[in-house]
Amino acid sequence: MKCKICGTKAEVRLKSHNIALCREHFLQFFRRRVERTIRRFKMFTKDARILVAVSGGKDSMGLLHLLNSLGYNVTGYHINLGIPEYSDISVDKVKKFHDMTGIPVIIESVVDELGFGIHEVAQKVHRPICSICGMVKRYMINRVAQKFDVVATGHNLDDEVATLFGNLLNWQSDYLARQYPVLPAADGFTKKVKPYVLVSEYESAIYTFFVDIDYVMIECPYSKHATSIFYKNIFNEIEDHMPGTKLRFLKGFYELRDIFPSTTREKLAPCEKCGYPTTAGVCSFCRLKDKLHHA
Ligand code: SF4
Ligand code: ZN
Ligand code: ZN
Repeated sequence: MKCKICGTKAEVRLKSHNIALCREHFLQFFRRRVERTIRRFKMFTKDARILVAVSGGKDSMGLLHLLNSLGYNVTGYHINLGIPEYSDISVDKVKKFHDMTGIPVIIESVVDELGFGIHEVAQKVHRPICSICGMVKRYMINRVAQKFDVVATGHNLDDEVATLFGNLLNWQSDYLARQYPVLPAADGFTKKVKPYVLVSEYESAIYTFFVDIDYVMIECPYSKHATSIFYKNIFNEIEDHMPGTKLRFLKGFYELRDIFPSTTREKLAPCEKCGYPTTAGVCSFCRLKDKLHHA
């Protein structure tokens, strides 16, 4: 197997693009694809202050590294969820990444905010952990994002395809109308972008490996039953038989997306306690805090 560009020994074979590449030309190929996505969807320019949400995993850490190497003004943001072992390893990898690259990273902790790790919070308020975790992360990211022009996340092609498939299976037209690589700034929320939407999980993993970033290999212990993993497995099988399907499925959707009308959203007003945009008078984060206080 030889590199399509220079003819030396190839290290990566990309079936969906029908090419094999050496290390150097894979890195070039990958960088160009992400840069093209940033331009195509008008995500940000070189003068924007970009906050990259990092979990410690390969996608978000790779994205932070890549954007920095392309000359963008980036800061990482990590939330310590307080989950034994998993969160300790994640924080450790994020700190190591900062020491190695010098890229600034802000770390905040759920235990500092709520007094407990996210699994204990979920137990105390009798709610599914992932729904509480999602709400808390959204709140904390949106809050710190006020000081930035844009928030970038490491969602990749496989993530987006799984989300799209789930939304279609359940005909969630409101979600479908909003599923796009760019969510403009609105109602006090900072703009959000996903520069990795057109690169696969496999390509992202190779990039992170080639640039020698040490990332968290284990999954969150609560992710085992996630439906998205089930959908991803289905799509991996389809992709195996018909390379390029994931990319066609997602790109085709972006072109057709307008057929799903977005419903008008309820009006938002600042939370009476913390100022966070909400429909409810007091936002769900402040209500959670109160509940924990009285639990
Ligand atoms: Fe949070 Fe883990 Fe659930 Fe993800 S899988 S939402 S990190 S608890
Ligand atoms: Zn080459
Ligand atoms: Zn609030």
